[in-house]
Amino acid sequence: MDELNQLVTSLKGVGAKRGEVLNSLGIRTIYDLLTYYPFRYDDIQEKSLDEISDQEKVVLKGVVLAEPVVNFYGFKKSRLIFRMMTEQAVINVTFFNQHFLKSKINASEEIAVYGKWDGRRKALTGMKILATQEEEIDFSPIYHVTKSIRQKTLVDLIKVTWDEYGELMPENLPDWLIEKYRLMPKNRAAYAMHFPDSIEENRLARRRLAFEEFFLFQLKMLQLKQQETSKDLGKSILYDVKALKGFIQTLPFELTGAQKRVVNEICADLRSPEHMHRLLQGDVGSGKTIVAAVALFAVVSEGMQGALMVPTEILAEQHLESLQGVFEGTSVKIALLTSSTKTAERRQLLADLASGELDVLVGTHSLIQDEVIFKDLSLVIIDEQHRFGVNQRKMLREKGNQADVLFMTATPIPRTLAITAYGEMDVSVIDELPAGRIPIETRWILPKQVDSVLTWLNKQLKQGQQAYVICPLIEESELLDVKNATEIYEHLKEFYEPHFSVGLLHGKMKPQEKEAIMTQFKDNKMQILVSTTVIEVGVNVPNATTMMIMDADRFGLAQLHQLRGRVGRGSLASYCILVASPKSDQGKERMKIMTETTDGFVLSQKDLEMRGPGDFFGSKQSGLPEFKVGDIVADEAILETARVEAAQLIASSEWAAQPENEKLVKALNERAEESKYFD
Ligand code: ADP
Ligand code: MG
Repeated sequence: MDELNQLVTSLKGVGAKRGEVLNSLGIRTIYDLLTYYPFRYDDIQEKSLDEISDQEKVVLKGVVLAEPVVNFYGFKKSRLIFRMMTEQAVINVTFFNQHFLKSKINASEEIAVYGKWDGRRKALTGMKILATQEEEIDFSPIYHVTKSIRQKTLVDLIKVTWDEYGELMPENLPDWLIEKYRLMPKNRAAYAMHFPDSIEENRLARRRLAFEEFFLFQLKMLQLKQQETSKDLGKSILYDVKALKGFIQTLPFELTGAQKRVVNEICADLRSPEHMHRLLQGDVGSGKTIVAAVALFAVVSEGMQGALMVPTEILAEQHLESLQGVFEGTSVKIALLTSSTKTAERRQLLADLASGELDVLVGTHSLIQDEVIFKDLSLVIIDEQHRFGVNQRKMLREKGNQADVLFMTATPIPRTLAITAYGEMDVSVIDELPAGRIPIETRWILPKQVDSVLTWLNKQLKQGQQAYVICPLIEESELLDVKNATEIYEHLKEFYEPHFSVGLLHGKMKPQEKEAIMTQFKDNKMQILVSTTVIEVGVNVPNATTMMIMDADRFGLAQLHQLRGRVGRGSLASYCILVASPKSDQGKERMKIMTETTDGFVLSQKDLEMRGPGDFFGSKQSGLPEFKVGDIVADEAILETARVEAAQLIASSEWAAQPENEKLVKALNERAEESKYFD
């Protein structure tokens, strides 16, 4: 292993400069180089035109009809075009900036082109020309590279390095696991990632390496959990059961079965001397706030304090209002702290918090500031927890006195994912909506139909109901978001005023402005609210029964679902209108799925299948671990097996001392940190 830990610059032919290029790819040592696996393989299988969907990458074979034509334009830019006859049709093939391919493309010859299919233009944008001999068209590993190093250079370097050092690649898994699952030995698997003899061999190699990653990851997580529970004893909160029951009686409705179940789970955690570390998952509108209120009440009934942290001011306001509602008539004292809290008010509030005068504090990131000191913070609740970084969550927890922690999320993470990402937490799920909800009716329309929908909406508004209009999210620029929203706002104003009032809400507004607009909307002084996605989480205006989402295909399914959850919160029939003209088949499919189900779990599963976990939560803030080989969605079954094995192993107290697990312990100490999971 020591030899594999040498820097790549110790290899022949790798100087300081090349070493730097490799470093930029994350390759520091020889081991890193040997395990720098391809990020994908072009599974180069020929397809026929009717099997391909729009924007799909494929290999098409055909006969070149005439010599290609090359045009030069701009600075060093070129376009090469030729016509190719496939078995079904004649299509255009275009290569950009690869005019040198001209010599390889000869009239009347057969050719195989790898490229991206444009379904509307019925044309292929070429990426690569392949040899047409059957055996050569199969399987080509693709590595992430930079401008400074070519695929071929990297592959050659891996090959010579492998020949010299490959045998030293250590086995990380114990024999008993390898035998049990008939896994490929580590060094053979690593080799077959780069230079597979067959697709099947490569598949088995991936399976083996994914298993190893998942297994080490789960084992490490479980180990951390064990350490945490043993050093942080938590405390037993023996709340007043009678008072709590009495409080639940005063609620304006009966808790759903699912709410009762999770309340019991949480209350058991509070009573238990162990530390609570629980994730409460519940679809939008499932009633998580009440559950939080019950937990807070329990803690306060024992003279302790609670905190509820949420990602936005609007949401904080909203939570404060709901909690004030349910705590009315009780002795629970509650306050709000955000960055807009006025200085004098803030001073008083902090004093009351430190003296224990105040029982519950609701707020945004402001809660984790140094000056915020609790007398006896025993329950920390974090809503929309994936919006906060690990450190922010930790800072709030550390303000507590061995505080119990409850995370809440409306993002319906599939079970396996939740366990993977938050393996160290217990999970409670509210899988039932309050009775009497009428399912939201979802329609997908084209942009040209918008005005007829506005006419239809007129009737809804006349009956006293309200509507949201959500504007597309333009990722590159918040300014464009605002511009877009403003245009839509102007159009609606023209359409509806003076009969109905239209308001605009966007992320560039000051908190006070946003608040003023929200208040008007809540009080039905404004009937239509045009908004960017700032309203995404948590707002509750039961009288708003229609939501129209512009350019809906720009949103992920999970996000559309969150947005849609803003309507259908009362007893009236509700509607969600998706305005979109998606170009790809996948885009159309996504709109269709939205009209077919309102089940957040089904949608999130679909979203994962169609977009991959990175995109699932939008951007990289998901907090989901990334693996080198394993894919938590596609390799779900492997993940589950690895989890079960890890849990079984760690349940025995002597596992680490057993000689058969020696390699594993070593790998866990040396290798499990090599990835970014535990940052
Ligand atoms: P979310 O889980 O999205 O945070 P909320 O807590 O905001 O959901 O609840 C959504 C709405 O449902 C609120 O208006 C709340 O008062 C109502 N609600 C919650 N629980 C019940 C219940 N058991 N029966 C009827 N209505 C309920
Ligand atoms: Mg909520």
